Amino acid sequence: MTEKTVFKRIIDREIPAKIVYEDQWCMAFEDIKPVAPTHLIVIPKKEIPSANQISQEDEAIVGHLFVAMRTIAERLGLDGGYRVVTNCGPDAGQEVMHLHFHMLAGRKFSWPPG
Ligand code: AMP
Repeated sequence: MTEKTVFKRIIDREIPAKIVYEDQWCMAFEDIKPVAPTHLIVIPKKEIPSANQISQEDEAIVGHLFVAMRTIAERLGLDGGYRVVTNCGPDAGQEVMHLHFHMLAGRKFSWPPG
């Protein structure tokens, strides 16, 4: 059996996290190494390794993640906007093989990203 990812362990309450949002399909918690004043990790509860493994049957879940992010932004008052990032695969620097969106806010972000 393959080892659980750290995010699956957070879903299963095996390790603690500062959870800011949770529903039937997804959860959001504070990144342990924030790179912005607000840095959340938003994940589906379904184990999808990366954006490259999203299948047609996951379309509703992925759409739901964006609706959840909008709810989170409203609740946290992220009126200045926010950036959503997903790292997919080694060239993008993906470390945790469980689909996740970084939700970053609270400062200006440059473009192009590094
Ligand atoms: P990446 O896979 O490169 O898109 O990023 C994984 C992110 O997960 C990094 O920003 C880490 O700081 C974050 N991370 C890793 N372990 C934890 C944890 N236990 N709780 C919260 N965030 C974590």
